[in-house]
Amino acid sequence: ALADAPHLSTRRLDDLAERVRRAAPGESDPLDAAVDVFAPATTERIGSVPDCDGDDVAAAVERARAAQAEWAETPPTERAAVIDRFGDLVLDRREELLDLLQLETGKSRRTAVEELFDVPAGCAYLADEAPGALADERRRGAVPGLSTATVTYDPVGVVGVISPWNYPLTLSMADALPALAAGDPVVCKPDEKTPYGALALSELLEIAGLPDDLFQVVTGEGATVGPALIDAVDYVAFTGSTETGRTVAERAGRNLIGCSLELGGNNPLVVLGDADVDEAARGAVDACFSNAGQLCLSAERIYVEEPAYEPFLDAFVRETEAIALGTGYDYDADLGSLIDADQLDRVRGHVASAREAGATVKTGGRHRPDVAPYCYEPTVLTGVEPDATVACEETFGPVVVVTPVPDEAAAVAAANDSPYGLNASVWTADRERGARVAREVDCGTVNVNDGFLATWGAVDAPMGGVGDSGLGRRHGPEGIRRYAESRTVGVSR
Ligand code: NAD
Repeated sequence: ALADAPHLSTRRLDDLAERVRRAAPGESDPLDAAVDVFAPATTERIGSVPDCDGDDVAAAVERARAAQAEWAETPPTERAAVIDRFGDLVLDRREELLDLLQLETGKSRRTAVEELFDVPAGCAYLADEAPGALADERRRGAVPGLSTATVTYDPVGVVGVISPWNYPLTLSMADALPALAAGDPVVCKPDEKTPYGALALSELLEIAGLPDDLFQVVTGEGATVGPALIDAVDYVAFTGSTETGRTVAERAGRNLIGCSLELGGNNPLVVLGDADVDEAARGAVDACFSNAGQLCLSAERIYVEEPAYEPFLDAFVRETEAIALGTGYDYDADLGSLIDADQLDRVRGHVASAREAGATVKTGGRHRPDVAPYCYEPTVLTGVEPDATVACEETFGPVVVVTPVPDEAAAVAAANDSPYGLNASVWTADRERGARVAREVDCGTVNVNDGFLATWGAVDAPMGGVGDSGLGRRHGPEGIRRYAESRTVGVSR
């Protein structure tokens, strides 16, 4: 409950909501209407944020545009220094941010910590590398020796960031910070369920020295604010479901603006026959159940080469049963609540239909209102047909299907049997074999002997999806340059 959060109060949440009013004083007063925000762990209403309309969004983008020229002229090293100071502030203010994150998402403290530390890690990378990634480059030119070609990286314009509820801090910043580093103003639309994280970070960006209007937050209903934002900005970075992503891409296409789409996944985890099954089982627990499975990168399908199947399954069920559930503001629990009743219904529906079709629930499979109203047990299913809903669709919850496969080729074929292609995990005692299998899996990132951290944590290497999982790459120089427009100047003698 809000009353139990050691570093928060109703007053503080209201102050954060005020930041939207200051940023968007359009013709209509956004505070006339409000969107209520609820704490998933208790279902209590914790506050409300302005329900921005199209005019408010347009006004915010206009203000961002007015601030653009000066920021674009600011040397990249100075822009990077602001981001560096911001990263330090996130660490300094971590206790309040962790309370906020837990309050609006219902995640456990341990999960909140993992998320929070991701932000300064990204800042440190950008502070070191963004100026270099944006520096002018000499290319070979039309006639080597007789002409030159120079490439410069100019800001792309105002960037709209549309982010989901599952990682409100990480996913509002993963696109905003490289855009700011590249000289672009940002207008961010967090999910209506979790608006406070981005608002708290907007305050820290201001304290870090970011000039006014360069990072603004607009709150309100996605179906109103999202399209209005896409219509006003020069580039849109979207993270969310594949279904909404398609509408974002259509609208960006009509406006002929660039877009990146970080969408859903139905990620495979492959355990090869030579793997250390205990290690793989521990890794699979993190891969499948982090953030109660509400993570785009989390594994939902496990394929195990025959000889390892029974020992892996035993170890995995044992490890899964050791997971501690809870939503308190202490470090006692691994796994917290789901975000809301819709998400709980989706998870229950997937498990129920698998059960009806004859699947076996090896562990879990129960709603746990004794822990929190939307809490669901980590669940391991076997005997699931490949065309079952739980196997084909993204559950986005703590549910995983384990299936034996006869050999490596069958494991790869099963892993690739999905329209998604976000992330995969391969477990083996032979790293070379792991690297070879990794190249055969159709995903933007593949982790050998890890669930997702080996690639997610590699902030200098690109990540993103193929197929229904999206378009574009974040992290690394690729994730910086997508917020810049290249210009080539060729000079002939
Ligand atoms: P969602 O698509 O419903 O919402 C995402 C964001 O889009 C929210 O801010 C929402 O308000 C906004 N939105 C809603 N309607 C819109 C519209 N018409 N135009 C523009 N914006 C609109 O996503 P969700 O279901 O809440 O989030 C979970 C999904 O996000 C999962 O599928 C998950 O896999 C995916 N996700 C992907 C990544 C990644 O990096 N690939 C990361 C996290 C989550």
